[in-house]
Amino acid sequence: MDSTKKQRGDNRNPGISTEMESSSSSFIENALVGFYRTKYSDGRILMVNNALTKMFGFEDPEDMLAGENTIANHYVDDIRRNELLEILQRDGEVSNFESMMRRKDGSIFWVRFTARYFPEIGCIEGVVTDITGEKNALESLGQTSELFHALLNSIPDMIFIQDKAGRYTHINPAIEKLFNIPASEIIGKTNRDIHLHNNENRDSHDEDRVFNGEIIERDFTKTIDGRIHSFHMILYPINGADGSISGIFGIVHDITDTMQYLEEIKVKNIELLSAIEVKNKFISMVSHELRTPLVPIMGYSELLLDGTYGALPEAMREPLQTIYDRSEDLKKQIEDLLTISRIDQLAIRIIKKSVYVDQLVQDAVNSYRAIKSGKNIEFIIECEPCRIVADPERLNQVIHNLVGNAIKYSNDVVAITIRTGTRAGKGFIEVSDNGIGIAVEYLPYIFDRFYQVENLETRKHEGSGLGLSIVKEIIELMDGTIEVSSKPGVGTTFTIEFPLAEATT
Ligand code: ADP
Repeated sequence: MDSTKKQRGDNRNPGISTEMESSSSSFIENALVGFYRTKYSDGRILMVNNALTKMFGFEDPEDMLAGENTIANHYVDDIRRNELLEILQRDGEVSNFESMMRRKDGSIFWVRFTARYFPEIGCIEGVVTDITGEKNALESLGQTSELFHALLNSIPDMIFIQDKAGRYTHINPAIEKLFNIPASEIIGKTNRDIHLHNNENRDSHDEDRVFNGEIIERDFTKTIDGRIHSFHMILYPINGADGSISGIFGIVHDITDTMQYLEEIKVKNIELLSAIEVKNKFISMVSHELRTPLVPIMGYSELLLDGTYGALPEAMREPLQTIYDRSEDLKKQIEDLLTISRIDQLAIRIIKKSVYVDQLVQDAVNSYRAIKSGKNIEFIIECEPCRIVADPERLNQVIHNLVGNAIKYSNDVVAITIRTGTRAGKGFIEVSDNGIGIAVEYLPYIFDRFYQVENLETRKHEGSGLGLSIVKEIIELMDGTIEVSSKPGVGTTFTIEFPLAEATT
């Protein structure tokens, strides 16, 4: 539709000559910016183009010209309109005049006017651009930069930028603490100016190295208010638009408290280590002292039980046997304590060699058969030949421990199955029993030191809760692993795996 036809009254377009009128009106009608003509006196709209009608939220120019619509209706603030009119009255024209306007639907937007006043016909003609996007962008830019400054001002780290000549161009207030002079006196100065080139603070070569492209990171100390502060500094080169290094970006973090904390931990650690040493010495001394009187107690009760000192009255057999058995339990617990303290002092000797594990199991079982336990024990041995790398003496101790537990935590008729063989490139030993088993919730803890399953069944038995922790630690010292599976009332299986000796036959 031809917008030039949508003119109110008899006002011809005074800004456009008659000859050019028809081509100009098509240009105005289709222009991307808004064109308008209004009456100076009352703001009546006389002519608008398509872009302007869209901008103000009207269907088409006719819609905007309909009724008594005036441009005054669209100003959010009348004062602003009066300012515009005053300028036009005074200067005859106005350019880049910004104002908030209201669309047909009441929504607000920003425009920029460039207009001219034609007093001879009492009209204003002008161009209007929607600058809402520009305004929003500027606002968010302002917010971002405000946020950035707020951040810089509030973070305790010291942040600065130096130019090519080493002059400070940007700093945050935290840096005053380091330089001990007001921030305003730092800007524009170099380190040399501020007399900072001393050994305590910055290395004079730091800046040269950063300008050679290096990132410098180092710690330094400085006395502030009589207290020595430790700082961690990082200097980054800033790459200019032409690819050359145009400055330095630096961050300095005060690590005084962290260093002090580390120092305290170090002291605590030393105290802890010496306490552990005292504990180990104590355990080792007490264990030796306890073991000494046990030797004659066990020796004499064994000789008495054997009848070496004459026939034993039947009534004395049971009490004597109890003395012997309990002494043996005590000896085992003392030995466990000694082993643990040796492990802690890294004093346990592990001599790894190639071991025929099937033979070793056989020997261990035979030695166990000789021990009187008062239970009916059946050993089922299913050993495939297998050669692993381990310390045979320690491995024997491990098997003894597992078999001992299998007997201890079983009823009177005990079936212990021991299997050996190779599996997935490892040698394995499995010790299974048909004993009381272990409930699944206790399984994760049974290898912990001093851990004992708390139930009526297990409380019947003597123990220190150290056996399985020793077993695991010894196995791991030999590069092996141990796992357990169990079902209460059915039995328990411990599976140990070791690296194979090279040629297993
Ligand atoms: P303890 O000196 O109590 O025997 P261990 O470290 O050898 O200590 O074992 C830890 C706990 O694991 C035991 O108290 C027991 O409850 C449980 N346990 C160990 N072996 C078995 C097993 N073969 N059958 C059932 N429970 C077992």
